Amino acid sequence: MDGTSASGKSTTSKHLAKLLGFVYVDTGAMYRTLGWYCLRHKIDPANEKAAATACRKWKTTLECVDKQVNLLVDGVNPARELRTPEVSSATSLIAAVPKVRDWMKKKQRECIQFGDLVMEGRDIGTNVFPETDFKYYLDAHLEERTKRRAAEGIHENLAARDQRDSQRAAAPLMIALGAKVINNSGMTIPATCDIIIADMQAKGAKVELVAAK
Ligand code: C5P
Repeated sequence: MDGTSASGKSTTSKHLAKLLGFVYVDTGAMYRTLGWYCLRHKIDPANEKAAATACRKWKTTLECVDKQVNLLVDGVNPARELRTPEVSSATSLIAAVPKVRDWMKKKQRECIQFGDLVMEGRDIGTNVFPETDFKYYLDAHLEERTKRRAAEGIHENLAARDQRDSQRAAAPLMIALGAKVINNSGMTIPATCDIIIADMQAKGAKVELVAAK
């Protein structure tokens, strides 16, 4: 599942993973963890070399708890500190560094050890698992996305972040070949999941729901 910022990727992916009994992977949280780590260790996220070195040296572990994958750094899951505007900005800078992306891609592919996945991010269909038949690209009107974030108490320039994510040279945000594009403006999460499940079935997947819609 790929898409723009605040397009509902996380909520939709979590809900879909629950319905299917799959493991949920938030790759944005993995990038944010490195952004957070850089800020914490006074590493300039705009310094490509420093960000790549940090990524090579930091001590991380992947764990899967309650069907959700977490990236721990020095044994700690910083999940609660990852959603600030400062971490968001630092993250989209380090996310443009090719060596960082190589490291992340390798870790993200390792997640398959935990089972079938619903993985969300910006380059999952194009770069991390290009071989999957099940690619979805979520979007919604900017105004609605901005409102969704504001309702969570987060005020940030989403358009600027999307532009940075779409214009970087390394694995930019784009619609993967064969991806189903869903504009979910004004749509509920279960309705979005219905569209995805119907598409999976149309592509020949035997879908067995393990939770009630
Ligand atoms: O999805 P989320 O907003 O948490 O992602 C934070 C940032 O991480 C994005 O703005 C993007 O710069 C980066 N990212 C990425 N590739 C991914 C997931 C996230 O570049 N697969």
